[in-house]
Amino acid sequence: MSAPLCHGEAVRTTCPYCGVGCGLIVRPDGDGRLTLAGDPEHPANFSDLCAKGSALLETVGLEARLLHPMLRQADGALIRTTWGQALDHVAAELGRIVARNGPDAVAFYLSGQLLTEDYYVANKLMKGFIGSANVDTNSRLCMASSVAGHRRAFGSDTVPGNYADLDGADLIVLVGSNAAWCHPVLFRRMVRNRAERGAKLVVIDPRRTATAEEADLFLPIRPGTDTALFAGLLVHLADEGALDNAYIRDHTKGFDDALAAARAVAPNPAATARVTGLASTDVVRFFELFRVNERVVTCYSQGVNQSAQGTDKVNAIINCHLATGRIGRPGMGPFSLTGQPNAMGGREVGGLANQLAAHMGFAPADVDHVGRFWNAPRMATCEGLKAVQMFEAIGRGEIKALWVMATNPAVSLPRADAVREALTKLDLFVVSDNVMSNDTIRAQPHVLFPAAAWGEKDGTVTNSERRISRQRAFLPLPGETRPDWWIVSQVARRMGFAEAFSYGSPAEIFREHAALSGFENGGTRDFDIGTLADLTDAEYDALAPIQWGGERFFGNGGFFTADRKAHFVAVEPPALREATSDAFPFRLNTGRVRDQWHSMTRTGRSARLAGHAPEPFVEIAAQDAAALGIADGDLARVTSPHGLCIARVVVSEGQQAGLLFLPIHWSDETASAARVGALVAAHTDPHSGQPELKATPVAIAPLEFHWCGFVRTRNNVTLPAQTWWARIAAGDGVEYRIASNAGAMLWHDFAHRLRSADAQLAEDFDPAQGLYRAAAYVDGALESCVCMGRFGTTAPDHVVLPVPDVGIAAPVPSAQPVFESEPVVCACFGVSARHIRAAVEDGRAHSVADVTRLLGVGSNCGSCLQDLKRIVARGRRAA
Ligand code: SF4
Repeated sequence: MSAPLCHGEAVRTTCPYCGVGCGLIVRPDGDGRLTLAGDPEHPANFSDLCAKGSALLETVGLEARLLHPMLRQADGALIRTTWGQALDHVAAELGRIVARNGPDAVAFYLSGQLLTEDYYVANKLMKGFIGSANVDTNSRLCMASSVAGHRRAFGSDTVPGNYADLDGADLIVLVGSNAAWCHPVLFRRMVRNRAERGAKLVVIDPRRTATAEEADLFLPIRPGTDTALFAGLLVHLADEGALDNAYIRDHTKGFDDALAAARAVAPNPAATARVTGLASTDVVRFFELFRVNERVVTCYSQGVNQSAQGTDKVNAIINCHLATGRIGRPGMGPFSLTGQPNAMGGREVGGLANQLAAHMGFAPADVDHVGRFWNAPRMATCEGLKAVQMFEAIGRGEIKALWVMATNPAVSLPRADAVREALTKLDLFVVSDNVMSNDTIRAQPHVLFPAAAWGEKDGTVTNSERRISRQRAFLPLPGETRPDWWIVSQVARRMGFAEAFSYGSPAEIFREHAALSGFENGGTRDFDIGTLADLTDAEYDALAPIQWGGERFFGNGGFFTADRKAHFVAVEPPALREATSDAFPFRLNTGRVRDQWHSMTRTGRSARLAGHAPEPFVEIAAQDAAALGIADGDLARVTSPHGLCIARVVVSEGQQAGLLFLPIHWSDETASAARVGALVAAHTDPHSGQPELKATPVAIAPLEFHWCGFVRTRNNVTLPAQTWWARIAAGDGVEYRIASNAGAMLWHDFAHRLRSADAQLAEDFDPAQGLYRAAAYVDGALESCVCMGRFGTTAPDHVVLPVPDVGIAAPVPSAQPVFESEPVVCACFGVSARHIRAAVEDGRAHSVADVTRLLGVGSNCGSCLQDLKRIVARGRRAA
């Protein structure tokens, strides 16, 4: 990319994707371009990066960016307006709705992508000045159950340990976490510990993921039964005399009740095995590994959190660590791996509807305390509506105004179709974002605010280990974009709160946030960064990554409950909220793929990230596929009572019978029908409000298409009706993977419509083989191509560019494929599974090391190493 550095020198910043929070250095290369590398001094990654982080500079272009404020007119047209008009309009409408319907008629829906300073200002405006706690965030979908579990056990939302514990642990247990794909840099740290120190790795997941490939013990647990597994573990630890009785006595309460509840759920390993669907021998092996290894870290992520019993699952895990005193000491502890880059920062400022600010809740003393600090005229005095309930209230017309910042609820929330429908009922619908179009914006907001993006904005984020890092700008603000904190402050000033929102920089906001955390704290609250309240602007600019609270909490007790003791929790027996039925006999698991992030508005811009999972897919077990007459590579329709998705079938050895898996990333912007949120039911955890995103009953059926192929163009196009499609970045343009029942004539007409007036078209129609191919060239360069074949017969060697026979001086060679039908395993070097298999099967490579030497695979970011190992092992078996 060629945009200039703001400062003309290297800039240290932080990756905007996952909760690992890797440090980056962006440098000019002296040639007007930028380079990016992992920061060797950042304690989260010590220079490592995954494929997503490595490709960040490929995603900072301005195509499709929202660059100006937009205001919808009475006739429905959305037109460019001035900042003044847009801000005045939002402030006046918010004021009018609050005056007419009360403060709870408005809501903010925020994001773990926001910076702490953005979050702080939005939270302050709503909870201290508008007077409602209807501020929630997409973090509700991510780690709200961990927050609730921490608060029940510790009295505070505290992550007790740190990443260094993963280096020093002798046993690492990963529960509901595909860390190899979702927290790749941390996972590599775990794998290094295993290789160098012999640490054991246990992976607990219904699906055999890339993470499970590295496990010493993989436990393919029945969905929703994690509570039983850890209840059984607690019983085992008690029965085998492995408890730390002194720690239990001195620092905790409620152990007897918790143990009795655990005995009722899982009285012994055999009963645990029955409930969890695991082999008894595996259960015993896990229990024994946990018993004999004092240094044990249990990491958990969305497989635990995204559940209607997520909080109990978290507490069942924490119970085992408290009972053995394995918390807050090197190499041990429960560890919540947060999904988003600043989910933790959002929690710190109180950006959840059930938090107030600075890790305080809605107890009268907390409300008084924060109200005095803010000098706030209208404090919220009770919890607001959590995400799912917030959008249901919008649907019922109870919330009249909504401001969405940096997130895409029409894709990610349960019952996403109903969410999108609800958005159309709002009297005032405001979106702050940096794209012109996404599924939420399709719901016709009244105002669009152009927000600064990563690389342009400036502030702080907090990662999974409580480490606050600076995200620094290295690009100028494009167009009329502004940081989110500025936009919110400007609205607040126009609502009459000028004095409290007079911020001129993120540094000012950070100082206030830090001061609030320390205000009358006296050690009563875990979150205290009061010592940073006096940073000068220069010190804030230069702030090195800093871990709040020190390295660890709770090694010697000191919990933040009223009695300063940790509270064991008596957990409920596991039960999924909704049973499968004849109509919906499968259970749908959802999750991420390795090289994409959320709804792909950023990662989707990188062609090299696109190849790993270029289409929405549904994984199914071989026996289920056979029973339904579905083959690998078919397209299938997945339905629930709430919606449908159409996805490519992947018959997977890693999938349990009766379970399906769909990735979450596709939206109506990138595929014809693949919004997973549209399928998911809106069941939520009673403590955290987190929705159950991984256990919806669904049905699957094959879909028949006669034709399939691809279209390459320089820009997005509208495909013929009734076409199944999925779009990815490819080369300098986009590629549509398509399936259709319309034959060659339709695609012939389409190819002719697609080409520009001065393009020359080369065509090739081969009825015998059922192929239609067309390529349009301008001055010898490919402008677009359309390649279609009979479904199931289109092999990669068929879909090459046809040689134009129209006298073009420099035709693209016919042997040059433009389409890779197999997944790209290594995004850094663009190597597909086909290349790796070929190298192994023809004897050029005999090991992972050989493939790495030969093709470069795995030698850069290492995100592909698990995939590589699996393909090499299979290739060797086949050779
Ligand atoms: Fe970014 Fe990858 Fe690091 Fe996560 S692991 S912060 S996505 S570079």
